[in-house]
Amino acid sequence: MGRLRIKLASSMPAVKKLRAKNGPTYKVNTSVKAKPDSGEKQRGNRDIDFLMPPRGMHDVLPADAPVRDKVVEASRRMAEFYDFAEINTPVLEKVELFKRGVGEKTDIVGKEMYTLRTKGGDKLALRPEGTAPVVRAYLQHGMHKLPQPQRFYYFGPFFRHERPQAGRYRQLWQIGLEIVGGESDPVYDAQIIVMFYRILEELKTGPLSVNMNSIGCRVCRPGYRTKLVAYYKGKDVCKDCKDRLKDNPMRLLDCKKESCQPFKADAPSILDSLCSSCRSHLKQVLEYLEELGLPYFMNPTLVRGLDYYNRTVFEIFPDGEDLALVAGGRYDYLAEMLGGRPTPAAGAAMGVDRIVDLMKGENPKLLQLRIKKKVFLVHIGDLAKKKSLPLMEEFRKASIPIRTSFGKDSLSTQLEAANKNRSDMALILGQKEVYEETIIIRNMETGVQETVPFSKVVDEVKKRWRS
Ligand code: ATP
Ligand code: MG
Repeated sequence: MGRLRIKLASSMPAVKKLRAKNGPTYKVNTSVKAKPDSGEKQRGNRDIDFLMPPRGMHDVLPADAPVRDKVVEASRRMAEFYDFAEINTPVLEKVELFKRGVGEKTDIVGKEMYTLRTKGGDKLALRPEGTAPVVRAYLQHGMHKLPQPQRFYYFGPFFRHERPQAGRYRQLWQIGLEIVGGESDPVYDAQIIVMFYRILEELKTGPLSVNMNSIGCRVCRPGYRTKLVAYYKGKDVCKDCKDRLKDNPMRLLDCKKESCQPFKADAPSILDSLCSSCRSHLKQVLEYLEELGLPYFMNPTLVRGLDYYNRTVFEIFPDGEDLALVAGGRYDYLAEMLGGRPTPAAGAAMGVDRIVDLMKGENPKLLQLRIKKKVFLVHIGDLAKKKSLPLMEEFRKASIPIRTSFGKDSLSTQLEAANKNRSDMALILGQKEVYEETIIIRNMETGVQETVPFSKVVDEVKKRWRS
């Protein structure tokens, strides 16, 4: 056997905490951040490059699991209350789906998509977003024949080849809500917004700001686009904006470059160009929000980076921050863009990584979050060890989490492990107890020990938890 020689200390990525002004703390990997894209080759000892994840991607470690679980559970509870059903689409889809659905000229598809060719010659993409796949599944499975609208939720990884930075990853996790089919009814837009808003409230991510806009429809948007192009013509905009002016003028309003901000500020507002039905739709969405007591800002430059949206678009930010936690809107044309019948729809997605970072920043104690009470089984001697697996099975059947070290350690070492595991109770099974068919229950907080019949131990533990 060869010796494994790994020099870790000097070459493992330094993890640095970044605190945005008045904002959340994001953990970023500075060695990854420091280097521009290097064709996935990274700094440090080349022998151990493979020990680092691909640039911009990160491990979700067990320490973060309780916080992520909280996010997922809160979302799942909300989704199920409002009768949304879970949907899981493949991580890989045909490239064409996103080209047609999200738009070939969008940043997400044109610049950020990971694509590959399979051995069979298919061109596939690691999904950059979840809405187009959900609508693809809706169409493929003929879900228009089911009661409308259909409501879906999902949780999974998405991939975008973006410049890695705090809160911006190349593998990101999203939770999405989509309402597909039925009428283009403003109540659905409002329902999606309030659901995400309440999830974030429950997760205590801090004060929120909801940005609202309408980007019109097939009737009124072309007129606005013409006005926008006329306004921008001859202006000294950045290179990206020059392309946008040709390919996707609405996205001019999305430019983040400092030099383009003054042009944006004076640009004609889309709100002045909405047709009467889009104006009425927007008014009704806002009335629902008011009825719900949900504060919002109108932001006429909010356009979103995906082609499928019409009418309502929205983003929810931590107050005073510029990285959105949730983004979405109405997409009445997407099904048609994918070759289906007209199918009104609305939805949004929430960035789980950003929420987890925020929750940890707001409340570091969350990392020690205890989800369930725990029991630790301490066994001394071979005879007791033999009994330990069947006993754990009894606890599993009763849905009571139980741990053990299965070791040959001394009583005190095992009790220390129980303490480290932050168990509420330890069950101590020694040779004497095995012969007498008993077991000791130790309250880990008070140290009080009681001997109970072995056959009754599950009930005895339950009894103590209730009291
Ligand atoms: P942004 O403006 O931040 O680039 P986006 O408009 O590209 O976001 P969407 O496609 O609408 O974002 O995704 C919904 C949510 O997913 C975002 O509001 C954000 O919380 C999260 N998200 C998007 N891109 C990333 C990323 N690269 N890393 C982490 N989270 C992300
Ligand atoms: Mg983006």
